Amino acid sequence: MENLNYLGNEYLGADFSILSMILLIGVLSLVITFRKKIFFFIYKETDMDLFLRQLDEKLKTTYPKLKFDFRYLDKIQDEPNPDAKKYALIDNIINQYEALEFTAKHSNKSIPSNMLWSSYAFNSKNIKNKLPEDWLLRKNAIFERDEKICQKCSKKLQPKDSDILFVKPLEKGGDFYLENMILVCNDCAKIEKYKLDKTQSVKFLEIREDLYSLVKDHY
Ligand SMILES: [Zn+2]
Repeated sequence: MENLNYLGNEYLGADFSILSMILLIGVLSLVITFRKKIFFFIYKETDMDLFLRQLDEKLKTTYPKLKFDFRYLDKIQDEPNPDAKKYALIDNIINQYEALEFTAKHSNKSIPSNMLWSSYAFNSKNIKNKLPEDWLLRKNAIFERDEKICQKCSKKLQPKDSDILFVKPLEKGGDFYLENMILVCNDCAKIEKYKLDKTQSVKFLEIREDLYSLVKDHY
């Protein structure tokens, strides 16, 4: 009887050590997985990490067509000044933005004719490139038709930061029919105008101010 008890305890002890081993491994792997959350005071996000995270977030929410190029980060790794590094990264993104392809295609989402106003057809003709008196009505119609999104860079737009691009430019005889008009953001309008006429300036782009503020706000 005594012997059996002894054996029994011996087996029970072995079971416990296997169990506690499994438990320990489980706890350890949890600690390793969530080490950054548990020891957050050691793994403090560096200034550069924070900037990159904010930049990435900004691109995702505001400029969905732009992708952050991590290879470029390697190219400028010898840059000693962290701010210069950040500006270089932003300029790289803006170059990407300026190079976005744009195919000014005829919009297939036409507006029902009962939505148009009486002077519509008359004012659609291009007379000396002058904006027609019902220009705002046209702009609003395009704003709704193109779902408040820049048709080039996909930025979500407010009426104040939107512009219109003509599929066939006015200078080349394009008219004011809604089918010839496309909704774009101010920046994309500037870039497309610059492609047609190199005297136009692309120095002041909203995207530049928008992204540069991520560096400046850190002071
Ligand atoms: Zn745009």
